[in-house]
Amino acid sequence: MTAVVVGGGVAGLVAARRLLQQGERVVLLEASDRLGGRVHSVELGGVRLDSGAESFAVRGGAVRALVDDLGLGADVVDPTGSAWVALADREVPLPAGGLLGIPSSPLATDVARVVGTGGSLRAYADRVVPLLKVGRYEHLGPLVRRRMGRRVLDRLVTPVVQGVYGVHPDDAPVDAIAPGLNAAITNTGALSAAVLRLRAAAPPGAAAQGLVGGVHRLVEALAASLAAADVRLGTPVLGIHPAPHGPGFQVVTAQEDLWAHRVVLAADGGAALDLLADAAHGVSAMPRPEPAVSTAVLLVADDGRLDAAPRGTGVLVAPERTDVQAVAVTHATAKWAWLAGRLPPHRHVLRVAYRGPSAPDDAVVRRDLAKLLGVPVGGIRARADVVWRDPAPALAAETIAIRRALDRAALPDGLTVAGAWTAGTGLASVVASGERAAARG
Ligand SMILES: Cc1cc2nc3c(=O)[nH]c(=O)nc-3n(C[C@H](O)[C@H](O)[C@H](O)COP(=O)(O)OP(=O)(O)OC[C@H]3O[C@@H](n4cnc5c(N)ncnc54)[C@H](O)[C@@H]3O)c2cc1C
Repeated sequence: MTAVVVGGGVAGLVAARRLLQQGERVVLLEASDRLGGRVHSVELGGVRLDSGAESFAVRGGAVRALVDDLGLGADVVDPTGSAWVALADREVPLPAGGLLGIPSSPLATDVARVVGTGGSLRAYADRVVPLLKVGRYEHLGPLVRRRMGRRVLDRLVTPVVQGVYGVHPDDAPVDAIAPGLNAAITNTGALSAAVLRLRAAAPPGAAAQGLVGGVHRLVEALAASLAAADVRLGTPVLGIHPAPHGPGFQVVTAQEDLWAHRVVLAADGGAALDLLADAAHGVSAMPRPEPAVSTAVLLVADDGRLDAAPRGTGVLVAPERTDVQAVAVTHATAKWAWLAGRLPPHRHVLRVAYRGPSAPDDAVVRRDLAKLLGVPVGGIRARADVVWRDPAPALAAETIAIRRALDRAALPDGLTVAGAWTAGTGLASVVASGERAAARG
């Protein structure tokens, strides 16, 4: 009998690899014509660039272990420099030593530079005002607002959380976005002390790392490790039906039906929920979240004014900043030394993020860049727009409700789910979920 993996994003690839290592006969079915899902690359201006994920969180160690296993350990790199935040009237470096923008030292100069002296003092109240709430904080926004005040929330935490996760902290569940924070608050008696404790417990060095050549190399290496599997592209799975008599599943595709004793369902949340209609009808029928849609504009530009990395690795835009349409800019050649090293002098790669399924024209993008980077950007040689659609954002309230129901539902033996919508956005969560899904069942 066969183990079928549905979906060839990172979660599915990791699961397929693990199943092969367990001696299974593996068939991986991927709907699109390529592997990798939201880890992808484009060739632009003569260089291959990540167009989806471009780094991975160090936390948990799952990605690093995988990268080492795949023989890419020597190519793991730290980013150079740090990001800035764009406030209503200026851009300032994000303070060092925080967690999701929450400062560990509210009175530090770099914190006061962003939130002002008044904002810093208000945040310091967190250290002296006793915790009135016993138990867990549900959402990050109310927690930060109560402990540290609006300025820290609006100017530090919101730009970071919206930039990385695409949600407002008011909608970001603490336990999902900052595992361990609630417990650390209870133990230390303050939010800033809790941040300090979590930072101290994290491995030394950067919180996120990259790969020389780009994170898409992870997909190439995973694909290469599946030589013994039957990998079928352009093969959307149309249905997964528990076998009517006895164990196993019928996996329906347009070409043929497969019989599997195990299925790892690693499609994105939208498709996965449709495919659970038979095995977990109640869960599949629950209200679905609004899809999150964003556009990444990749630019290659020849402009020496960017050589000095005027805004470090890039800029996250605070909601109070209303004269630009972009929500974030990554200065990729400032962030990744290997990328700068592959390009001629004064050539730069920028990635500008916009909400929605399209980005503005060149003139508006250039205007946004000039405002956010503090220098005009000319010499644009190439542009590529990549639209990303997430049918079930991991932090949406509906997705969380679905996930909880799925945890309670008894899936048939042999069926497991994996991927960002079940485990959380980001490669750290996704790799671990692929491993778990393959190990169970
Ligand atoms: C622009 C952008 C930047 C990001 N940056 C980072 C970053 O820097 N660091 C980080 O850690 N994370 C980042 N992320 C998030 C990260 O990329 C995702 O969390 C992760 O790649 C999701 O992997 P997955 O396998 O769960 O899902 P996906 O990558 O969505 O893979 C699901 C796969 O299932 C396939 N599929 C769907 N339906 C079917 C079906 N019916 N049958 C068969 N196959 C099907 C899809 O085609 C797809 O290939 C970023 C995401 C985006 C969009």
